[in-house]
Amino acid sequence: MTHHHSQTMGQQLGRRSWAEPWKIKMVEPLHMISRKEREQALLEAGYNTFLLRSEAVYIDLLTDSGTSAMSDRQWAGMMLGDEAYAGSRNYYSLEEAVQTYYGYSYLVPTHQGRGAEHLISQAVIKPGNYVPGNMYFTTTRLHQEIAGGIFVDVITDEAHDPTSLHAFKGNIDLDKLEAVIKREGADNIAYVSLAGTVNMAGGQPVSMANVKAVRALCDRYNIRVYLDATRMVENAFFIQEREEGYTDKPIAAILKEFCSYTDGAWMSGKKDHLVNIGGWLAVNDPELFEELRNMVVVYEGLHTYGGLAGRDMEAMAIGIAESVQDDHVRSRIGQVRYLGDLLIDWEIPIVQPIGGHAVFLDAKGFYPHIPQNQFPAQTLAAELYRDSGIRSMERGVASAGRDPKTGDHYYPALELTRLTIPRRVYTQAHMDVVAEAIKTVYDAREETQGLKMVYEPKYLRFFQARFEPI
Ligand SMILES: *Cc1c(COP(=O)(O)O)cnc(C)c1O
Repeated sequence: MTHHHSQTMGQQLGRRSWAEPWKIKMVEPLHMISRKEREQALLEAGYNTFLLRSEAVYIDLLTDSGTSAMSDRQWAGMMLGDEAYAGSRNYYSLEEAVQTYYGYSYLVPTHQGRGAEHLISQAVIKPGNYVPGNMYFTTTRLHQEIAGGIFVDVITDEAHDPTSLHAFKGNIDLDKLEAVIKREGADNIAYVSLAGTVNMAGGQPVSMANVKAVRALCDRYNIRVYLDATRMVENAFFIQEREEGYTDKPIAAILKEFCSYTDGAWMSGKKDHLVNIGGWLAVNDPELFEELRNMVVVYEGLHTYGGLAGRDMEAMAIGIAESVQDDHVRSRIGQVRYLGDLLIDWEIPIVQPIGGHAVFLDAKGFYPHIPQNQFPAQTLAAELYRDSGIRSMERGVASAGRDPKTGDHYYPALELTRLTIPRRVYTQAHMDVVAEAIKTVYDAREETQGLKMVYEPKYLRFFQARFEPI
């Protein structure tokens, strides 16, 4: 690391430097296979990092989903698992944690986020309904579409510009939202699908002013607002840092205020909540709750476990309380920024401002000579793995999928390769190694060629698609 970076970070935080608010109690060995073996692994994986065996990976930045290190408290909580089919005490711990920190009245546990997305989409969307949202997320939009909904992106224009330094690139554009409501009629809007932070925009936050304004607009038209709360803790950190009036408020208070402007939320506990599996759906409407509580029995499991073991619910309940601690969030986002700042210093194109959970490389900036239908971001992920055994993932045209009406690729403005940082897992030295590998791939950018897709699955194609060099 350079002295310069710790100073920059330290100055932002009003002290000389920062460090993780924990020490390491157990370690897992890493190893790197040879370049020849990596070439072979890449070939076998069809140039798709989702199809690599994790044993072939050195530093795994595929996702922050389910990859967190649990605390000693969470592991102790696992031993308190009450594996009763019905009425497990761990369900009540989880219910209490969600009510305390998110403020919603009624809780339905699910095995992970998409289980909750499935339930809310099926319960609330009527075929032909519109679902405006602040940029899409892959599983969220798919469940909305499977339920017959039509997703409409109403995020602010700045979100589509990787160089815009706007502080809240996750905001909903109120004019765009109102235009959709007027065009389609309030009765045809299933709900507003609000996410904080916005994963596909580069982990960008929504401001408190924006959620308040969305609430006010939706109240005028009698439309509900449901929140994808997957990374709301990280969103709350950005509000504390950037929005007037919130500097002295704890993350926990900011989170709860934000949620209070929404009618319910779905959650992938595998992100913010520091667990390896788990999710939930929570709402304030008792009638909707009754319906969801009935549906969960069909798709996930009884309403007091929703596809989770008792021990998983306990670990998540403890993780919720840990996740909202200010020093935890500060060091988590601080590590992401440390990596991003190194790359910015080397003038490597990334999405700015640096988001909460990941650094997003701008693949169009890396490879201006590779057209988008030759998958520049997929190419970059493959090249990075080849160079160093570091696993990243594509967030560009492959992830965007196809328009269900026309059958054409969606061509998103953002063509990104995501380096996602697991929580409490890697050290600063790992971040240095990652930055150096990216520099090597960047220096070789002009000789790099694109990919063609040779196998395309029907759903969420980016997970299982296969590619070949052109
Ligand atoms: C991961 C994620 C989901 C889906 O959750 P899973 O636990 O992976 O099923 C939904 N929304 C966002 C923003 C996510 O990042």
